[in-house]
Amino acid sequence: MALIITAKKCIGCGICVQACPVDALEIVNGISVVDEEKCIKCGKCVRVCPTSAIELEGYIKPKDTKPKKVISAEEANMSCSGVWVLIEQSNGEAAEVSWELIGEARKLADKLSTEVAGVVLGENVDKIIPDCFAYGADTVYVVDNPVLKDYRTEPYSQSLSKLIKEYSPEVVLMGATTLGRDLAGHTATLVNTGLTADCTELSIEEETRLLRQTRPAFGGNVMATIVCADHRPQMATVRPKVMEMPVKKPGRAGKVVREELEMKEEEVLTKILEKISEKSGAVYLDKADVIVAAGKGIGTKENMKLVEDLAEVLGGTIGASRAAVEAGWIDVSHQVGQTGFTVRPKLYISVGISGAIQHLVGMQTSDVIIAINCDENAPIFNIADYGIVGDFQVILPKLTEAFRKKLGS
Ligand SMILES: Cc1cc2nc3c(=O)[nH]c(=O)nc-3n(C[C@H](O)[C@H](O)[C@H](O)COP(=O)(O)OP(=O)(O)OC[C@H]3O[C@@H](n4cnc5c(N)ncnc54)[C@H](O)[C@@H]3O)c2cc1C
Repeated sequence: MALIITAKKCIGCGICVQACPVDALEIVNGISVVDEEKCIKCGKCVRVCPTSAIELEGYIKPKDTKPKKVISAEEANMSCSGVWVLIEQSNGEAAEVSWELIGEARKLADKLSTEVAGVVLGENVDKIIPDCFAYGADTVYVVDNPVLKDYRTEPYSQSLSKLIKEYSPEVVLMGATTLGRDLAGHTATLVNTGLTADCTELSIEEETRLLRQTRPAFGGNVMATIVCADHRPQMATVRPKVMEMPVKKPGRAGKVVREELEMKEEEVLTKILEKISEKSGAVYLDKADVIVAAGKGIGTKENMKLVEDLAEVLGGTIGASRAAVEAGWIDVSHQVGQTGFTVRPKLYISVGISGAIQHLVGMQTSDVIIAINCDENAPIFNIADYGIVGDFQVILPKLTEAFRKKLGS
């Protein structure tokens, strides 16, 4: 089996180079060239090549990867309906972000006078269905198949794109998690629509029914509002903890629609050979109720002890700004912000953090924010509920002691 690149057809766009998982392709003099030694003949480049310039001997390009037809916005508003949410699950346990998005979908759907649907993909996933209704879905689409037991891009995106083509939703939302980010991008290309990743705000423009998708851009210096005017569905991913958790109403019911998966296990290129569980002691910042976060202002790694003491007394978790992570005082798994975790604890105490926008986008929806900073003009005070102006080395031991007495911990 060899990879054949027809130079006349190749336009040197580089899409194949980006798609290649083993860096076997490069553009030389405007034409894609393959390194046969590195090539694993996976066929990814064949599938993505827009001009069909790449062929793999014996490989048949999967049918139905292109949409049946491209829908214009005008047409779309007539023929598409429903706000869908992918209910991300692992071993039958739904990720909380899915419920947050069902809550958000409810608000959008009410503006559009349409329904909310949850999409559940996996194996033995029926136990999730009642919760979908309880959190606000009117309909649940289910594809239950052993091939979907563990997440893999191909069968999941095939299932989701098939549902989208068949039922034409107006909006599709997913969590900006590792799974959601992968699935959303792949599915959007299969159904030929746009995708806005990492949204922090969603709303509906009522006259046009367009979904206004807002996200930080240019390193967080501006908030960009993006619309997908010409294609449907309008797709967006949203980070966990950005949207509010809706109230659960057990006993609420709705319609269940079941669909089959056409893909067979033999057709899936990716195989799961082994699963390695996360090491214990991993930081679950996005689930913490109390976070004490350290910034560059703490000055040295040794001073982290003062932050840890306060976190311990409060039963909290340690967070950090990127500057503290880059200084090597703490691991990146503790980073809060645009390139770290988005958190929404009940209490966020920031210590020696200035309040750069890239940090704020990750924590500004915390219930109560206490900022400790020696500069009274630090921007963190603009969003803090309580501000303490002063040296953290003086303040932290006093706070820790006071909480210890109060909480008896
Ligand atoms: C594309 C991009 C993505 C980014 N992503 C992130 C991200 O995810 N998370 C993130 O945090 N940043 C991120 N950043 C970096 C961000 O712009 C800031 O540089 C960073 O947040 C600053 O961290 P800091 O507040 O700890 O440090 P500084 O801005 O240096 O602030 C230190 C603060 O400590 C105070 N201070 C000093 N001494 C004391 C003392 N003794 N007692 C009390 N206060 C004291 C100072 O007054 C100052 O306000 C990103 C930047 C870019 C360009």
